Amino acid sequence: MLGEGGTPLIQAVNLGMMLGCPNIFIKDERQGPTASFKDRQAAVTIAALKEAGITEMVAASTGNVAISYSAYAARAGIKLWAFVTSLVPAVKMREIAIYGSQVVKVTGSYDQAKQVAAEFARQRNLYLDMGARTITSIEAMKTIAFEIAEQLTTLMGSAYNTNGKSHPIWRTPDWYIQSVSGGMGPLGISKGFSELKKMNLVDRIPAIAAIQVEGCAPMVNAWKEHSEIATPVSSPRTHIETLATGDPGRAYTLLFRKVYDSHGIFESVSDEEAFRALHVLAKMEGISAEPAAAVAFAGLFKLIRAGIIKPTDVVVVNCTGHTMPTEPFILGDNWARNVVLPSRMMEETPQEGLLAALSRVAPDRFPHVVLVDDSPDARRLIRRILQSQGNFTIQEAESGKQALKLIKNELPDLIILDLMMPEMDGFAVLDALKSSPDTASIPVIVSTAKELTVEEKEKLKGQIQALLQKGDFLNDEFLEEVNSLIR
Ligand SMILES: *Cc1c(COP(=O)(O)O)cnc(C)c1O
Repeated sequence: MLGEGGTPLIQAVNLGMMLGCPNIFIKDERQGPTASFKDRQAAVTIAALKEAGITEMVAASTGNVAISYSAYAARAGIKLWAFVTSLVPAVKMREIAIYGSQVVKVTGSYDQAKQVAAEFARQRNLYLDMGARTITSIEAMKTIAFEIAEQLTTLMGSAYNTNGKSHPIWRTPDWYIQSVSGGMGPLGISKGFSELKKMNLVDRIPAIAAIQVEGCAPMVNAWKEHSEIATPVSSPRTHIETLATGDPGRAYTLLFRKVYDSHGIFESVSDEEAFRALHVLAKMEGISAEPAAAVAFAGLFKLIRAGIIKPTDVVVVNCTGHTMPTEPFILGDNWARNVVLPSRMMEETPQEGLLAALSRVAPDRFPHVVLVDDSPDARRLIRRILQSQGNFTIQEAESGKQALKLIKNELPDLIILDLMMPEMDGFAVLDALKSSPDTASIPVIVSTAKELTVEEKEKLKGQIQALLQKGDFLNDEFLEEVNSLIR
């Protein structure tokens, strides 16, 4: 045991506001001992193998299983032969090796690596890990369902039984969302909720949304054809190697039933959508996940936009892991700014040297934005979106009156204006701005939480540069607007 399981369930308040879906919760499986939810599987499986007297084993992996098994095998005194594809990032291979496992790099697909591993195990008469087909794996993943029901009840209060007897019970989310490769996670979660239901601890099972990457989506392809059998994808085309199971085999057929019965869905997202979601999650919630985990969040965005997930739904997203820092891969070269202190200057006038160096980090003047909204939460959200995407000088006003004073003094480059405010609303602020020559030409973006009437839209015409509906602005669109208006 290395302290696996018992990971926190965290409400994603900022994401919820951005998406107009307030009850989004993140099951933070990054917090396992090797930083992915594979630690649950490894803990139970390796313990069982140890009990059975196994001292040497073989596993094929897209990376994370091998890392996690390696850690647990090290403690149990089991030698692991880890077969990975050559596309697994070098940092992950290094991690496997550090625990003392033998890494075997296979140039080919993950399915081919599995075949080579199986043949190797057969020839040497070694135990071969069967992934989603092992009882211990499914049993281990069940614990995620138990924890979610218990934690959600702590966070949101008890639910009530819908079958007439109204004794308080644990909560089931409306949706469980996970990025999927072999399908072990959702199979386990589904079994966990079924058992809770049998015990009358919950009254239903969540709809399961299984998200794959477009470049390797055999399950999604089969689902869209209403087929219970997946046609293998022989050469996956994705940078997200963790999710490169081309042939899910019987696991799909099992999962198909579970997803269907839960009124859930299989959906796919592109690598690019996953990387974008990764950025949003990190910048809005302070959670840095690996691309494979971000696939689930890209799926969340897609399903909310499509109206499949409703604004009132309670959603749990499994943040499956952050096994290795993958930032260099997605951030490119420009992620940090260097402060080089001129050494002589430092000795003589350390303060000046520092200030001079810092002034090179960023220009003196950033685009100046005034943010007008009576809700502190809405102001925090918009401020966060701006801060996370670039450098702005942001000033806030919480009423129309305060806004006019501030704008007249500061003459900002851009105004972001809420319409619905008590006393002086956004329409009145706009009228005042447009009637004064100083402020008439400052661009205005209106952000509003409510649907506007035809008359209201007519009133805004020609007065503002853009209209943003709160709840449906994801930050890239919003930032494009802002940047185009400031330039
Ligand atoms: C293994 C893994 C997945 C896919 O899990 P399955 O339930 O086996 O399909 C997703 N994300 C990460 C980080 C993983 O390690």
